[in-house]
Amino acid sequence: MTEKFTCLIIGAGPAGYTAGIYASRAGLKPVIYEGMQPGGQLTITSEVENFPGYPEGESGTVIVDDIRKQAVHCGAEIRSGEITEVDFSKRPFRLVVDYEREVFAETVIVATGATARWLGLETESQYRGFGVSTCATCDGAFFKGKTVAVIGGGDTALEEAHYLSKIAEKVYLVHRRNQFRASKAMQDRIFRTPNIEPVLDAVPTEVLGERQGFSRKVTGLRIQNIKTEDFKEISLDGIFVAIGVTPVTDLFVGQLELDAHGYIKTQGVRPLTNVPGVFAAGDVQDPHYRQACTAAASGCKAAIEAERFLAEEA
Ligand code: NDP
Repeated sequence: MTEKFTCLIIGAGPAGYTAGIYASRAGLKPVIYEGMQPGGQLTITSEVENFPGYPEGESGTVIVDDIRKQAVHCGAEIRSGEITEVDFSKRPFRLVVDYEREVFAETVIVATGATARWLGLETESQYRGFGVSTCATCDGAFFKGKTVAVIGGGDTALEEAHYLSKIAEKVYLVHRRNQFRASKAMQDRIFRTPNIEPVLDAVPTEVLGERQGFSRKVTGLRIQNIKTEDFKEISLDGIFVAIGVTPVTDLFVGQLELDAHGYIKTQGVRPLTNVPGVFAAGDVQDPHYRQACTAAASGCKAAIEAERFLAEEA
């Protein structure tokens, strides 16, 4: 039997789960499709000190799992499938789960988030999974007592560097400018950590490594100083790329209006997309704040909008 939902939520980070909490309480019986990476980016964030309600700080995984539990407690139904196709041309909207099963929805909240960006070097992709990673909390343990580099100058990079400084013997923090973009609190923490060495004005140009049969390992990173244009090699065992994110919107090309960077366009402070009945929440529509806290708040707004949209229609 074909299923039809009042409110279908795509994505399972703070935005999606919070939308689930509000939509359940509004009686919309929401169904959340969790997709490939339940929990979203918070699951790869080691320690979060700025999500309200956790006075001592907490791991991202615990926080997002708590929001999930709250959504379930309020009545949201959580499913593990991935939405692989959408048709927003008419209502009820048609969506396809795992390439094969059609479902329909009166309203849709898109909360698909964003994924880590890569440098785009050929050698980076050759050593991905063999010493090149975008997730210190996932892969940091492999580098106990070793030397690693983190690339980037934002909060993520500095947080990853700090996390790794407790595992690795030495952490280079390679940034393309001479000023970090990260918050002052994060910078102070880095400058107080003796085994983190900032390498500034440095652009990575090649991942260095060794191959033996099927096995590969990272041995270093070649960087170019943007002022002197000199090249230098740093000996390393691992490289963590932390240079920002790309919104997960491939599914919505041709269906929703996107900006030049691929973010879903919403209307000012309201999470309305260009399609009435489809709302967007969290990092997928937010190139500015990108906090777990702001994502949760926009999930709340999207669910309230969905409720009002249906009420006005009724
Ligand atoms: P950001 O976009 O803030 O930073 C990306 C960094 O990567 C910048 O320093 C940028 O350099 C650098 N960069 C981008 N592209 C390249 C490239 N091709 N080569 C080399 N370097 C590159 O992303 P983040 O993931 O750090 O943070 C995203 C958001 O999440 C921010 O709003 C941040 O505040 C927030 N956040 C908050 C945390 C917290 O509060 N606990 C933890 C983690 C993230 P440049 O500076 O020159 O542009």
